[in-house]
Amino acid sequence: MRPWVKRLLYAFFPRRCLYCDRVIAPDESLCEDCAPTVPRMEEPCCKHCGCTKSLCRCKKHRHAFDTAVAAMRYEGPVKQVLLRLKQECDDDVTATMAEEMVSALRRRTDAAALEAVTFVPMTARDERRREFNQSECLAREVGALLGVPVKPLLRKIYPTAPQKGLPMMERSGNVLGVFDVNLPLTEKKILLVDDLFTTGATLHECAKMLKLYGAETVTALTFAATVPSEKQDAESDS
Ligand SMILES: [Zn+2]
Ligand SMILES: [Zn+2]
Repeated sequence: MRPWVKRLLYAFFPRRCLYCDRVIAPDESLCEDCAPTVPRMEEPCCKHCGCTKSLCRCKKHRHAFDTAVAAMRYEGPVKQVLLRLKQECDDDVTATMAEEMVSALRRRTDAAALEAVTFVPMTARDERRREFNQSECLAREVGALLGVPVKPLLRKIYPTAPQKGLPMMERSGNVLGVFDVNLPLTEKKILLVDDLFTTGATLHECAKMLKLYGAETVTALTFAATVPSEKQDAESDS
């Protein structure tokens, strides 16, 4: 974008801090007050659940995806950001979130090998009702930053009860067999995007289907992951 176009756009639509909505400079993504308090997932991280290793309690629980990467801990201002994302898909907000996601992905995995970016789908009915799928909004920005094509490789064929209302033990049963793959699947190394990782049940089920139809590796990328002490009050499940 030309500098004067950027300045003009900024005059009408100033860039705002992702966490507190305060107006910030056009080349920044968060304000100076929020910057030191953002709960980034500190490395080294567990590749099974995406959590900082010292916080991980997953005991290397195996999932169908090969690696999980989460940019943030699901706490404080990050909860507000994800709540807002469910209400509207603002391009500025998703672009800033995607920058955090891609930077974590590049530090922890071989992002250059990826062949396609996809996302956890909603049923057609749910998507009509909400008018957007927040995971798809994030995936589009992530794909643009990586220079990797974004494709709707999955579809959700049955509606499910909201994961957040269910006990942890019932969550994997709730999503069993609800996803299908849009064939043909030609890509082998796939990045699967969602907003939040809690038990990993939904991402597992999606990755399982992709592998059934020929994917070799599936990397699960989320904006945030719950750290064990906060699993109980997760707003949604991935
Ligand atoms: Zn702020
Ligand atoms: Zn873990």
